[in-house]
Amino acid sequence: MQSLNQELSDYLPDSVVSHLNAFAGIQPIEVPEHTRRLLELSQHYSDLTGGAFDVTVGPVVRLWRSARANRLSIPSEQTIKECLALVDYRRVEIKGRSAFLTKRGMRVDFGAIGKGYAVDRAWEECRALGITSFMFDLGGNIRVSGEAKPGMPWSIGIRDPFETESNLGKIEIPDGWAVATSGQYERFVEIEGRRYGHIIDPRTGFPASGLAGVTVLAPDATTTDALSTGLFILGPAESIPVIRKAQVEAVFIPDKQPTELWVTPGIQPRLTLFRDAKVRILPGW
Ligand code: AMP
Ligand code: MG
Repeated sequence: MQSLNQELSDYLPDSVVSHLNAFAGIQPIEVPEHTRRLLELSQHYSDLTGGAFDVTVGPVVRLWRSARANRLSIPSEQTIKECLALVDYRRVEIKGRSAFLTKRGMRVDFGAIGKGYAVDRAWEECRALGITSFMFDLGGNIRVSGEAKPGMPWSIGIRDPFETESNLGKIEIPDGWAVATSGQYERFVEIEGRRYGHIIDPRTGFPASGLAGVTVLAPDATTTDALSTGLFILGPAESIPVIRKAQVEAVFIPDKQPTELWVTPGIQPRLTLFRDAKVRILPGW
């Protein structure tokens, strides 16, 4: 996991991703296999979500990150527009062993998929070693194997996005499956009385809003990481075709009171609520 982070993190100036970004618009660079695979997987999830998930959103993420650090005002419309012009996953060229961001200023940010990818690689290594019952949790990106105890499947708590010290309930996870949650309640900035999160809608350049959290269940952690972010941006209605196509399960928690959980039908038999909250099938399903 550490070596993957050294390769994929855009926070580390010496990472492969940082080199890739530095050569944007200049020339292709040779990248190691994990970076290449992750770029290809990212394009797949971008296609699947109609571009809501897009790892080239880096310039806009950076813009809002600095607004958050300075706690001043939100970025100007002009600056947002300039950064948005650099966002387009179709402008990432992968050829043989090399990758190229075709426009100067483009930046890849694997923040929404890298942890899930790392969990999958670690999960596979454990399985290959013959370990059968275990669970990985990398910053909320979870994948399980086997059972928690003989006869008892793994189950994962769903954090209450409005009261983050406690859980709303728990979900049973099938053997081998993964679960991840995207929400704005952990990393956001309050500017002029409004909360701005860290998940950016590439269609507007603004942080996505409307939901408190989205939890996705899928057979692997790369999918749950990428899609929890993608569905958070798309919102419940636009997510339905994506959920059907990808054959995943999801829980949406709208950003309103009283607390409601909007779930896909496959979630219902796996869900145990700890407290009073309304559970309903995703409207429009
Ligand atoms: P997650 O916590 O998995 O939902 O990922 C959030 C992180 O993904 C952010 O902190 C950004 O680094 C990055 N990100 C933000 N918006 C997007 C987007 N639309 N597509 C892909 N990655 C994004
Ligand atoms: Mg994610």
